[in-house]
Amino acid sequence: MIKAIYPGSFDPVTYGHLDIIKRASKVVDELIIGVLVNQKKKPLFSMEERMELLRETTKEYSNVTVKTFEGLTIDFARKNEAKLIIRGLRAVTDFESEMQIAQTNHSIEPEIDTMFFTTSLEYAFLSSTIAKEVAFYGSDVSKLVPPVVAEAFRKKYDHELQ
Ligand code: ADP
Repeated sequence: MIKAIYPGSFDPVTYGHLDIIKRASKVVDELIIGVLVNQKKKPLFSMEERMELLRETTKEYSNVTVKTFEGLTIDFARKNEAKLIIRGLRAVTDFESEMQIAQTNHSIEPEIDTMFFTTSLEYAFLSSTIAKEVAFYGSDVSKLVPPVVAEAFRKKYDHELQ
């Protein structure tokens, strides 16, 4: 029984994240998406909104659940008895910091490994930050995020621009 966590900010979930979730959910028995409470970042979407968007967009995967966590990813993995941490790699620029984090985690807890999925080519450029930028200026985000997230952007930015 392989249990994995997929940690991140998911502010908000994009097709890039969903591509990783879909592929990871096929190779593990249970996948727990961990939405990070990061005191240092000011997210656009609240924790509840980010979790709700993730639940809505991953409901077709019966082995995927969504949880929130604060603190170290490795502690979240331990608490959930997960032996794998899933991360996505978009470009070489992701590589250095991701390798550092993975090695740190592995030295803290040798029983837990990090597994990387390389992005599908069509999402190589995509990040939550890019999606927020495009949505902010009212451009079409339909290739970047699922319809429910596009709708959430509309509500958020209409409201903010008033
Ligand atoms: P974090 O702030 O922890 O990087 P993100 O929500 O930005 O959180 O990303 C969570 C994970 O998803 C990271 O491993 C990131 O590299 C991966 N990811 C994000 N966008 C993509 C994408 N377009 N393709 C592949 N992986 C991605």
